[in-house]
Amino acid sequence: MTVLDTARTALSTGPVCDACLGRLVADRSFGLANDERGRGLRVAVALEDDDPFEETDAECWVCEGECARHDWWAENAAAALRGYEFDTYQVGTRVPPLFEENDRLLREDVGLAPDAGEQFKSAFNREVGKRLGAKTGAEVDFGRPDVVVLCDLATDEVEVQVNSAFVYGRYRKLERDIPQTEWPCRECNGTGRQRDERCPGCDGTGYRYDESVEELTAPVVEDAMDGTDATFHGAGREDVDARMLGTGRPFVIEVEEPRTRDIDTNALERDVNDFAGGKVEVEGLRLATHEMVERVKELPASKTYRADVAFEEPVAAEDFEAALETLSGATIHQETPQRVDHRRASKTRTRVVYDIAGELENDRGATVEIDGEGGLYVKELIHGDEGRTEPSLAGLLGVRAEVRALDVLSVEGEDEPFERDEFFRTAGS
Ligand SMILES: [Zn+2]
Ligand SMILES: [Zn+2]
Repeated sequence: MTVLDTARTALSTGPVCDACLGRLVADRSFGLANDERGRGLRVAVALEDDDPFEETDAECWVCEGECARHDWWAENAAAALRGYEFDTYQVGTRVPPLFEENDRLLREDVGLAPDAGEQFKSAFNREVGKRLGAKTGAEVDFGRPDVVVLCDLATDEVEVQVNSAFVYGRYRKLERDIPQTEWPCRECNGTGRQRDERCPGCDGTGYRYDESVEELTAPVVEDAMDGTDATFHGAGREDVDARMLGTGRPFVIEVEEPRTRDIDTNALERDVNDFAGGKVEVEGLRLATHEMVERVKELPASKTYRADVAFEEPVAAEDFEAALETLSGATIHQETPQRVDHRRASKTRTRVVYDIAGELENDRGATVEIDGEGGLYVKELIHGDEGRTEPSLAGLLGVRAEVRALDVLSVEGEDEPFERDEFFRTAGS
């Protein structure tokens, strides 16, 4: 059957609009919009049959007139998005089952396969999307757009989903006893109450610590982007009592439903650092893609630590040097440390000490710098955890040792460069 015959049969089923007619044979000609193709076919059928060509006002039985409302939907989508900054978007449509049924019936009537031509939904998404792009200057993105609009044809309503925005950076924690993220009080499970009384463990706050790196940074980013919430994703975390110094630790702050995306990250950096009051410092803030969250969480990091160590008995300089030499490059066997959650099943794991160096301050104290594989328990490497970590500095010296203070000096990706351009976005792009 020729395209013209198909069109003639389709037109005999009742009023069919140009767009629905054109969709029916969308796979048969290219370079035309559905309604242009449909109109061409309608004219051609009238010419060939020697019929007078008539404009019809009757509502299309296939789409019930929705194809004539693309502009209306685009207008409403743009209105729903007003107040949100976005560079990329996607349009989706909730199509009543009746429309899909009509598409199928029309194809059956003209003797085509049920999936012939183009389905209502994909044409509708494209037509509304095209108009929305022209109105807003944004680009369509079928992967992870900044915003998604959903046209609900049954209710005539537009729903808007605003995807998160992400800011990457590195932080230094300059004071001890600050956890990376909020730490719920263990005594009251974060409720702040015990037996209807204010929890004495946290003074009713629900948290074990007053502040966290997250609380000292994320609210400022949330504010700058005018979002509804913000979450801190760190590339691992240091112990609460360890500082994070040196080049800092990578993190991503995720802001939900941001109204602003193209922010000045230099100004943001200053604002965060003002807010954190010298307890935490951030640097290298950049706008990132959502993929950066995974990237940061998966970072197979090596870490450099500095430990302030105290010995119970005097240690000779040559013994100290010999012990460090043994540990440098050594593979360490570590049973789950006693200080780690007891609910976790104990197991032995091995981690490499890439390099270790140190200096005795006197025969009872030393500063030790350790460059180790991610996951190395550093405190246990020093004190041996009563034989659970082998070898250890204390074990090799035959002297009890204690870590008085621990700092992380750097966190680095072990393999390829961690900060790749593809995971960042530039303002206004
Ligand atoms: Zn129609
Ligand atoms: Zn509590």
